[in-house]
Amino acid sequence: MFTEEMLADVRCPKCPTESLKLFASEKNGSNITTGTLHCAGCNSEFQILGGVPDLVPSNALSDE
Ligand SMILES: [Zn+2]
Repeated sequence: MFTEEMLADVRCPKCPTESLKLFASEKNGSNITTGTLHCAGCNSEFQILGGVPDLVPSNALSDE
């Protein structure tokens, strides 16, 4: 379960000072079931699937 209130507690793993921008594509009441979190700091996007934000950057394995 992920709600807009929880957005304040979520941080980009690379940019702890950046707050993430939420793009909800599917909602169930106040729960965001599907969507995207965007970090303006490193331009990363994190998927929310089934109400669970996936905060592992897609380029984590090739991080320099
Ligand atoms: Zn970032």
